Amino acid sequence: MTQKQTPNIDPAEIAKFEELASRWWDKESEFKPLHDINPLRVGFVDRLAPLAGKKVLDVGCGGGILSEAMAKRGADVTGIDMGEAPLKVAKLHGLESGVSVRYRQIPVEELADEMPGAFDIVTCMEMLEHVPDPASIISACARLVRPGGQLFFSTLNRNPKSYLFAILAAERVLKLVPQGTHDFQKFIRPAELARWLRQSGLRIDEMTGLVYNPLTRQYRLDANDVSVNYLVATTREAH
Ligand code: SAH
Repeated sequence: MTQKQTPNIDPAEIAKFEELASRWWDKESEFKPLHDINPLRVGFVDRLAPLAGKKVLDVGCGGGILSEAMAKRGADVTGIDMGEAPLKVAKLHGLESGVSVRYRQIPVEELADEMPGAFDIVTCMEMLEHVPDPASIISACARLVRPGGQLFFSTLNRNPKSYLFAILAAERVLKLVPQGTHDFQKFIRPAELARWLRQSGLRIDEMTGLVYNPLTRQYRLDANDVSVNYLVATTREAH
């Protein structure tokens, strides 16, 4: 299938994930960090927005690590992404695991026109820092959730410490992910994210850091440290 030409997709970013897609579910691969943070972020979502029985949209779902985990907790999950290979991997993995998720290759802005207000919960994790116009993604996510519905975003902060951890340490020293995975200029400060969320009519309920300890090689949630990777929970105002 050919890539749809919409202005809010960076083909070079999609290509990076296409190339690595076959290793998506290998927990020792480039995707190890996503596997490692997954229980923490699913727990965070489920605590603030109990997943069982909810209609959930996972935007930029990739190979489906988060989508499947939410489906396992009883949500009816749709995953969308613009990468073809990651979606193929996601579908195949679903057949193997028996966890049922609907996957579609469609830009989020287009889905927002097709199904406004159709979801109780929207998640968009580790994706905003890979797109040309994150505000447009956020606004589309806001249209996709019903009034009163909840949205969860995660991304990387932009400051000297996040450069050190997310670029120098993760890509060059510890080699957790390949060089060039992230572009520091595209990282997003909490204040910038908060402005875009407000502009889309979203209220911030909670923000928390996802902190990596290189010694124990473990992640933890820490509300007092959003300096590198962080998660934000929001609600679509009901007016
Ligand atoms: N959200 C998943 C995957 C994160 S990797 C997780 O956290 O486990 C980033 C994903 O964003 C990749 O699968 C990539 O294909 C996707 N992506 C990048 N730009 C996109 C865009 N403009 N629209 C939809 N998906 C995009």
